Amino acid sequence: MPEGTTPLRIAIVGSGPSGFYAAEHLQKQQDRIIEIDMFDRLPTPFGLVRGGVAPDHPKIKTVTKAYDKIASHPNFRFYGNVTLGQDISHADLLAHYHAVIYATGAQTDRQMDIPGEDLPGSHAATEFVGWYNAHPDFRHLTFDLSQERVAVIGNGNVAMDVVRILARTEEELRQTDIADYALEALSRSNVREIYMLGRRGPAQAAFTSPEVKELEDLSGADIIIAPEEVELDPLSQAYIQSGQDRTAERNVQTLTRYSQQEPQGRPKKIILRFFVSPVEILGTERVEAIRLVKNELYQRSDGTLRPRPTNQFETIPVGLVFRSIGYQGVALPDIPFDEKNGIIPNERGRVILPDGQPAIGEYAVGWIKRGPTGIIGTNKPDAQETVNMLLEDIANGKLLEPAHPTRAAVEEMLHSRRVCFVTYDDWRIIDQLEIQRGEAVGRQRLKYCYVEEMLQALAEHKGIPVPTQQES
Ligand code: NAP
Repeated sequence: MPEGTTPLRIAIVGSGPSGFYAAEHLQKQQDRIIEIDMFDRLPTPFGLVRGGVAPDHPKIKTVTKAYDKIASHPNFRFYGNVTLGQDISHADLLAHYHAVIYATGAQTDRQMDIPGEDLPGSHAATEFVGWYNAHPDFRHLTFDLSQERVAVIGNGNVAMDVVRILARTEEELRQTDIADYALEALSRSNVREIYMLGRRGPAQAAFTSPEVKELEDLSGADIIIAPEEVELDPLSQAYIQSGQDRTAERNVQTLTRYSQQEPQGRPKKIILRFFVSPVEILGTERVEAIRLVKNELYQRSDGTLRPRPTNQFETIPVGLVFRSIGYQGVALPDIPFDEKNGIIPNERGRVILPDGQPAIGEYAVGWIKRGPTGIIGTNKPDAQETVNMLLEDIANGKLLEPAHPTRAAVEEMLHSRRVCFVTYDDWRIIDQLEIQRGEAVGRQRLKYCYVEEMLQALAEHKGIPVPTQQES
């Protein structure tokens, strides 16, 4: 392929932060024309920025302005409402692109593998997050918010989000873009005590300092921590004093301060517990309580402090449980998958085949590449690394040889299969319609929560026939 003349066609599957940052790095290449087609199974872009970031964190969501700019590039196309494995296959991608980047994130949750985990009233936090963010996959779920006591398992930022959303007042939630049905359900919530359960101590918590500080801004909730649970054991103390972890240091300071405060008599209580692991969720018909074992820390040979159970147990009566112990990647059809780690096997982003060889022209980026860790910005260098591998391979002539390397061929394929794809301009219309719907009821946005609803609103706005069920 003569450099700079024939466009290099690249597909990115997934439109979350890692997909957009991969596109941005590709767009910086000056010496050749690169056409990027980004696919998403939803009609809406942005992955977890839309469906995961907490509604009361609007500042984090402003990152989409940068994604809008990337999408405005003349050689960028968005094909929303197109599912890999259903509307297009792995073979289709190889037949239409010189390279494919998988940016599908981690779409499910990790299980605890304890008895009672599947009782009604025990949920993955990721389900609750998707539900309150109007993600179409989770719209049908219901959560029994008539319960007074709730346990949130895990000490990460997702657990923090869940705790905060449960603790916020109706007034606070109304100012966000939380799904309308979630606002209504949470406004009627009976939840009064929210237990956040960490298996290690305050110095090992996975949440970041702004998140733990934000708890004291909640107007309707007191924060309760037993002073003895923030007292550092000698190993944690040595770790904090070493100065190697500023986040842990700040977290410990904030948590210590909280433990010394008097409750203000606010309607809800957030009770932060440390050194406890759930061993069983109890109940006959549904969740009635959670049984915990007290942990102690020990130092592993690699220097990390891990929890191990003691022989002390306690039971807390709770009617709802949200396990928030991490996301988990999902296999894509016909693409190698490492079940244990929930990622596409890869070396610095190059997909690795079962025989140990790199797959020509296939790459991974973001959580499906490295696992569900890091904040949005972590995906920038991650995407840079993957794109660097891709460019290096291209420079060495290692790219796919697609039979139909044109945009017209892709669109013809989608049309012939009656796939009702959504373009970026279409998404802009959906975006504006959501904002207008919100303005009409004094909210910043009223999200559509069904794919059919989005396609119908779009068709009505454009004055075209509403797609039938089969076509969508
Ligand atoms: P995470 O940060 O990995 O936290 C998972 C938590 O679950 C940890 O406290 C972990 O404890 C605990 N855990 C794991 N297995 C457990 C078990 N069997 N029993 C009890 N506890 C267990 O995951 P996450 O909260 O899902 O967040 C994912 C990523 O998204 C993180 O990088 C996070 O920072 C990011 N995120 C950021 C924001 C934000 O910036 N505001 C918001 C949401 C998410 P151990 O530490 O002991 O393993």
